[in-house]
Amino acid sequence: MKKLLKTILLLSTTMLLTVHASENKTVKWKLAMSWPKSLTPISTVPLRVSSLVKEMTNGKFIIKVHGKNTHKAPLGILDMVKNNIYEMGNTSSYYYKGQDIATTLLTTAPFGLNNAEQYGWYYYGGGEELTKKVYDKFGIDSYPAGNTGVQMGGWFKKEIKNLNDLQGLKMRIPGLAGEVLSKLGVNVTNIPAGELYTALDRGTIDAAEFVNPGLDIKMGFHKIAPYYYTGWQEPAAEMHFFVNQKAFNKLPQTYKTILKVAMKVATSEMNTAYFNANVEAWKQMKTEFPNIKIKTFPDEVLIAMKKSTDEVIAKYSKDSPLFKEIYKSQQNYLKKAREWTKISEYKYITTSNSLK
Ligand code: CA
Repeated sequence: MKKLLKTILLLSTTMLLTVHASENKTVKWKLAMSWPKSLTPISTVPLRVSSLVKEMTNGKFIIKVHGKNTHKAPLGILDMVKNNIYEMGNTSSYYYKGQDIATTLLTTAPFGLNNAEQYGWYYYGGGEELTKKVYDKFGIDSYPAGNTGVQMGGWFKKEIKNLNDLQGLKMRIPGLAGEVLSKLGVNVTNIPAGELYTALDRGTIDAAEFVNPGLDIKMGFHKIAPYYYTGWQEPAAEMHFFVNQKAFNKLPQTYKTILKVAMKVATSEMNTAYFNANVEAWKQMKTEFPNIKIKTFPDEVLIAMKKSTDEVIAKYSKDSPLFKEIYKSQQNYLKKAREWTKISEYKYITTSNSLK
C-alpha cells in the first residue's frame, strides 16, 4: 500500500512538472488579417486576442498580427493558414467560395438569419459542427470573430422606383447578393474597397454596397450618394478566425484553452463595439448630411430579389451537398427562431415606436 502511494505521488509530481514545463513554453505565432489595422472594430478583434493571450501566458505565447499591407494577400488567408505560412488568420469565410461554395453560408445568406438567430444556430442549432465539416478538409479550425449585424442595402445615386431601374445599373456588391442582382439586370462590378469612393464619385459605378454606418462612414459614400437602402443581402455577416490544426495541436493544453477563451472574449467585445459604432456613425452621418434618404426597395424589387436568391441557392445546392446541408440547417433554425423574434424584439420595437 505504502509502495503504491509512493508511486502515485511520484507520478503526479512528474505530471505536475510536465504541465508546468509546457506552460512555460515560449510559442511564437503569426496571424494574417484580410484588412488593414485601421479597419476597427473588425481589426480590433485579432489584436485583442494577441494581447489577451500574451497577458494570460505571462508573455510566453506571442501572436504577431499582420495587416493586409504586410502580407499583400487579403483574399489568400485560407491558403496561408492551410499551408502554415501563418498559424492563424482573421477573415471572411465567403471570400473562399472559389475553394468551396459552402464557405459563403457561414458568413451570412441573403434573407437569412439575423445576428441573434445566427449565433443561436451556430452554438445550438448545428452550426459549429457544420463549420467543422467545411474547414476540416483544409486542416483548419474556424471560430467566430464578430458580426456586423444587418448590413445596409447600399448607397445609390438615384432612387430605385421599380425593377426597370435595376437594368444596366452599375453596382459594386460582392458575394451571393451580387449574383442575385446580376440575374435581375444589374451590371455587378468588383472594385477594390480602396477605389470605391472615386468610382462612385466619378460615375464609374451608380451604387455601392459595403457594410453599414460603422464602416461605411470611413468610406465617405454618404457625401456623394444620398439614397441609403435598407438591407436584405447580408443580415448578419460573421467574421472568422482560422487556426491551423497541426499548429494548434502542438500547443500546451493551457495555451489551447487560453486561445479559445481569448477569441470568445474578443468576439463578444466586438459585437458590442460594432453596435455602438453603428449608432454613433449613423448619428454623425445624418447630422452632417441631412439630405441622406433612408429607403427600402419597392415590393416588386424585393420579391424579384427573393426569387432570384432562391434560384441561386437551388443552383449551388445542386452543385454541393454540403452547401445544401448548411442552407437546410439554417432554414430549419430560422423557421422556429423567427417565430420568437417576431413576438419579442420585432413586436417590442414596433409597439414602443408607435407610442412616440
Ligand atoms: Ca457587404
